[in-house]
This record gives sequence, structure tokens and C-alpha cells, in this order.
Amino acid sequence: MKKLSLIIPCYNEEEVIMESYSRTRQVVAQLPNETEIIYINDGSCDKTRLLLNEIADADPQVKVIHFSRNFGHQPAVTAGISHCRSDLAIVMDADLQDPPELIPRILELQEKEQANVVYCVRKSREGDQFFKRFTAKMFYRVMNSMSEVKFPLDTGDFRLIDRRIMDEFGRLKERGKYIRGLISWIGFKQVPFYYRHEARVAGKTKYPFNKMIRFASNALLYFSNKPLRLATSLGFAAVVFGLVLAAWFTLGKIYGFSNAESGWTSIVSMIIFFGGVQLLTVGVLGQYIGVLFDEVKARPEYIIEEERNF
Ligand code: UDP
Ligand code: MG
Repeated sequence: MKKLSLIIPCYNEEEVIMESYSRTRQVVAQLPNETEIIYINDGSCDKTRLLLNEIADADPQVKVIHFSRNFGHQPAVTAGISHCRSDLAIVMDADLQDPPELIPRILELQEKEQANVVYCVRKSREGDQFFKRFTAKMFYRVMNSMSEVKFPLDTGDFRLIDRRIMDEFGRLKERGKYIRGLISWIGFKQVPFYYRHEARVAGKTKYPFNKMIRFASNALLYFSNKPLRLATSLGFAAVVFGLVLAAWFTLGKIYGFSNAESGWTSIVSMIIFFGGVQLLTVGVLGQYIGVLFDEVKARPEYIIEEERNF
């Protein structure tokens, strides 16, 4: 029987963690597989730390990693994967939006298909506001059109991965990991599992608008260089436009069909337009340089303060 780990990142989840644990524990008790739960406390500043320690002290099947500060959801999942020694791992959220009751069916599908990855696709997003549903839908579609790797639509990090995938994942050296993208990129046999994304049982989302934007732009920067090519095209189009205008005004001067002297409005518009094109393209370049800067520093993705039950 294959050994299973559940990888669950938590950031300020004091309101859900006990319920999350008890529901997950019930499911685990019924599994034939030997199972452990790995919680990653991503530098919570509420009671999450205390509660996780209590859980780990009472239950030897629970392992806890405490980060030295908040490093983010993706580094937390990365830490979970690198600490996992099992044959299979399931990454899920602490807020019960990914119901633990689905675990037996996910395992069954893995077994039946002999899949390396079972990625969970959100058929519906119960708990999310229209704005989040809309932006998420747009994001996955834009990502797919921009990136050379094709990703399954409407999937989060809720997925099962096997030893093979975990080992290959461990070889990836980049710091800014967009995990769902990287797992698609690794390849092997990946099958979908359709489910209903539930509402958060308590507490607030830890992905406010600014974090969502950062997450999305990071994914794009790491998986596509199309923005750079678009910047080049934009620059090229501006040059062609400028040349056509110059020709028009010169010929107009010679043949007398343009009154170029009274051109204040056109000059100002043009300065603003080309200024805008330049700033935009420099901005795009800057984004990629920012990513290079972070990667070149090669700092660790996270720092662990304490490990329990490992
Ligand atoms: N999370 C984390 N670190 C962060 C933000 C979130 O570990 O900096 C965890 C969080 O506790 C939850 C999961 O990542 O278990 C997903 O976050 P959340 O449910 O807030 O995001 P949403 O479902 O609203 O997109
Ligand atoms: Mg959530």
C-alpha cells in the first residue's frame, strides 16, 4: 500500500485550523494507506502556531513546519513537497475549500489510471465572489495564450502528485515557483478530477487583490517571454507610424496639402504617445530584470524556524 502525505499550507488560519484538522483526520482514519499530514505554518501571527503545535503533540501522524516569517503560499507548498518522503502527496488548502472528503476518490482515480498527477479542476467556485471568479477565469485563459506550456484551465494547487513528480520538482532550481505551471511542465501522465470548489468555512482570504496581481504577473513572467516580444512589436509599429507621418508632412510641405505650422495638438499628442510607448517597453524590460535580479541573488525560498514530529 502506498504511503500518502497531505501537504497543507496555513497562514493566519486560527479560525479554520481545528475544523480543518478534525475533518481531515476523519477522512485519514478511513484510508487504507499509511498517511501523514504536513502542515506548513507560513509565519502566522495569530494562534495558528499554537494550535498546530497542540495538534502535533497529540497526534504523531501530524508534522509541522514553522517558517521564520511569511514567505507566501508557493514557498510553503514547496517546503511541504521537499519534506515529503511518501509515495504520494496531495496538496490542499487549510480553509476546506478543497474538501478532504474527496481524497479517497482522488486516490482511486490515481490507482485506476496509474497517473503521476491528478489535478483537481473547479467545475464551480461556490465561495468566490463574481470578481474573483471572473479574474481567475481570465487569468487561466491569458496564461494559456501567452505561455509555451499549456496548462489545464481552472485548476488550483489542489492536486495529487507521485514520487516521480516530487523528485523532478526537487530538481527545479528557480526561486519564484509557480507550482501548478511547473507540475504541468514536468509532464508524465496527468489526469483531471472534477469537483466543486466550496466556500471558505471561516476566516478571510489570504490572497487580497495586490497579492493576486503579484501572483498572476509572476506566473506570466516565469512562463512566457511574449510580453517582451509584444514590446518589440509595439516599438516597431510606432516606428512605422512615425515614418508614415514624416513622409506625409514632408510631401504635404512640397505639394502644399498639409498646413503643418498649426500642429500644436498633433505634436503634443505624438510626444505623449511615443513617451508612453517608451515607458511601457522599458517597464516590461524592467519586470524581467526584476525577476533576473531575484534569481541571481539565489536566496533560499524560505527559512524554517522549527520542525515538529519529523
Ligand atoms: N496561504 C499561505 N501563505 C500565504 C497566503 C496563503 O500559506 O501567504 C495559505 C492559506 O492559509 C490557505 C491557502 O494558502 O491554506 C490558500 O489561501 P486562501 O484560501 O486565502 O486563498 P484563496 O482560496 O482565497 O485564493
Ligand atoms: Mg481558500
